[in-house]
Amino acid sequence: LRHLVIVLGDQLDHDSSAFDDFDPDQDAVWMAEVAGESEHVWSTKQRTAVFLAAMRHFAAELTDAGRRLHYAKLDARSTKDSLADQLTIDVTKLKPEGLVVTEPGEWRVREALREVAEHSGIPLDIRQDRHFFSTVAEFAAHAEGRKSLRMEYFYREMRKKHDVLMTTRGQPVGGSWNYDADNRKAFPKQGPGLVPPRARFEPDETTLEVIALVEKTFGDHPGSLVSFAWPVTRAQALEALDLFIEERLPGFGETQDAMWPGEPWLWHAHLSSSMNLKMLTPREVVAAAEAAYRDKKAPLPAVEGFIRQILGWREYVRGIYWTQMPGYLERNAFEAFEPLPDFYWTGDTAMACLQDAIGTTLANGYAHHIQRLMVTGLYAMLLGVDPKEVHAWYLAVYVDAVEWAELPNTLGMSQYADGGLMGSKPYAATGKYIDRMSPYCKTCPFDPAKRTGEDACPFTTLYWDYLIRHEEPLAANHRMSLQVKNVSRLDDDEITGIRERADAIRRGDIAVPHT
Ligand code: FAD
Ligand code: SF4
Repeated sequence: LRHLVIVLGDQLDHDSSAFDDFDPDQDAVWMAEVAGESEHVWSTKQRTAVFLAAMRHFAAELTDAGRRLHYAKLDARSTKDSLADQLTIDVTKLKPEGLVVTEPGEWRVREALREVAEHSGIPLDIRQDRHFFSTVAEFAAHAEGRKSLRMEYFYREMRKKHDVLMTTRGQPVGGSWNYDADNRKAFPKQGPGLVPPRARFEPDETTLEVIALVEKTFGDHPGSLVSFAWPVTRAQALEALDLFIEERLPGFGETQDAMWPGEPWLWHAHLSSSMNLKMLTPREVVAAAEAAYRDKKAPLPAVEGFIRQILGWREYVRGIYWTQMPGYLERNAFEAFEPLPDFYWTGDTAMACLQDAIGTTLANGYAHHIQRLMVTGLYAMLLGVDPKEVHAWYLAVYVDAVEWAELPNTLGMSQYADGGLMGSKPYAATGKYIDRMSPYCKTCPFDPAKRTGEDACPFTTLYWDYLIRHEEPLAANHRMSLQVKNVSRLDDDEITGIRERADAIRRGDIAVPHT
C-alpha cells in the first residue's frame, strides 16, 4: 500500500486535497466511527447521527467509485474507542508507505494524527484545505500587528479578493459593504406568517440503521432523533441549497435576529451542517446567492447579509481558531467559574426563552444564531459560567458543531472570554432585548423590565450583577462606558438586592411565581 488517505467525519468531499494524486491501484481510504468522538463532549443524538449517516453514505460513494476503503464501524467488535487507537492498529496491519490527510478541523485531532504517525514511523502529509475561500496563512497575514480582529475588515478584503457582490469598478454593489442595519427587525404581532417548510430528507435504510445504532450506543445522550431529516449526502445538500435560494433567501435578512416560539427554522438556511461536513462548498453557496441577486430573485440586503455570514463570519472564525489555538481554549478573561446549569441538558426551566431555545436544540440539533448568542449564550455569560463548560455544551449539541467554528463563536463572540480579541464589547443585555425580538416574555412568569423582586427576569437581574461585578474592566471599554455608568446611579440597597437575587439564581433557589 502506497498511501492510506485519512478521511475524517467532517471531510466528506470527493474533491478534497487528500484525493489529489489518489491512485486506485496503490492507495486506499481510511475512515473510522469511534465512540470517543461522541463522548469527549456529551454529543446529542442528532449530532452523532448526522456525522455517522453522512459518513456511511460517503463511504458507499467511495466504494462505488472503485476506491479501496478501510472503514471501521462503531458496532464492529474490533473497533477501538479513539481515532488514534484505531488508526494505530490499522496502520500496523496495512503498513502504508505514507499517510495523507487534508488539514483536520480540530487541533486535538490534528495532534492525535501526528502522534500516531510519529509513533508508527510513517510520514504524514497534511494538505491544505481548499474548501475555504481563505487559507490560515492569509488570515494570519491579515491579523499580523492587529490587537483586535474585527470581522468587517477581513470580510471586505474577501469580497474584493474573490470579486463577490462587487461592481466592475471595484466598489461594493449598492454602494454599501454591509446592510446589517436593515436586518434587525422583530416579527409583527401576529407572527412570522407562512414560513416555507424546512427541507426534509426522510431517513433511508442506511440512516435508519445509524439512528438505531445511536439509540443503542448512546441512548443516555441528550436529545431526540424523532425529527431527524438533515441532508446526509451531497445530492441532498444541493437540493437543500436550491430550496433555500428559491424559497427562503428572499426573506432572509430583515428578521434575521427575530425569534418566535415553536418556529425553529424561520428564514435561516439550515446549511451549516452540510457545509461543515464538506458536502457543500462555501463557493457554490455564495455563488448561488449572488446569482439570485443578479437575477433579481432576492433583494440586496438579504443576499449581502447571507453572504457575509459565509464569506465573512465563517472564514473569519476559522482564522481566529487556527491562529489562536491551543491557548484560546484556556482563555477566561473575566475569571468565570460557575458550573453550567443542569437545565441546559433538559430544557427544564420556567424561563420561556431558554425553554424554547434549549428545547429546539435538543429536539433538532439546531437553534438559530440569535437563540445561540442572545438566549443560551447570554444567560451563561451573565451567570458567569466557566467558558470551557459553555464550550463543551455548544460543541455537543448542534449538528453543525465542529471546533473551528464553535469555539470562537462561543468563547469569543458569546462569552467575551477572550477579553475583546473578536468582539469590541460583550453582548450584555437585559431581558428587554429578548422581549423586543420575540414574544417569549408574554408567556413567561418573569418580567423583563424588573431587576429585583419575586418576578424579576433572571436575565435582567444577572445583567446588572454582571455590570456590578465587572465594573472596572467594562468601564475602561468606551463602547460599554455608558452602560456601566448606570451602575453608579444605583443606591446601596438596590445593589444589595441585585446581588442577593443573582446569588439565589446561581444557587438555583429562584422560586417560579404563579401567574
Ligand atoms: P444561517 O443563519 O442561515 O447562516 C448561513 C450560514 O452562514 C450558516 O450555515 C453558516 O455556515 C454561516 N454562519 C453564520 N453565522 C456564522 C458564524 N457566526 N460563524 C460561522 N459561520 C456562520 N456555526 C457553526 O457552523 N458551527 C458551530 O459549532 C457554531 N457554534 C456556534 C456557537 C455559538 C455560541 C454561536 C453564537 C454561534 C455558533 N455558530 C456555529 C454560528 C451560527 O449560529 C450557525 O452557523 C448558524 O446558526 C447555522 O444555522 P444556518 O445554517 O441556518 O445559518
Ligand atoms: Fe426570558 Fe426574561 Fe423574557 Fe422570561 S422574562 S422570556 S426569562 S427574557
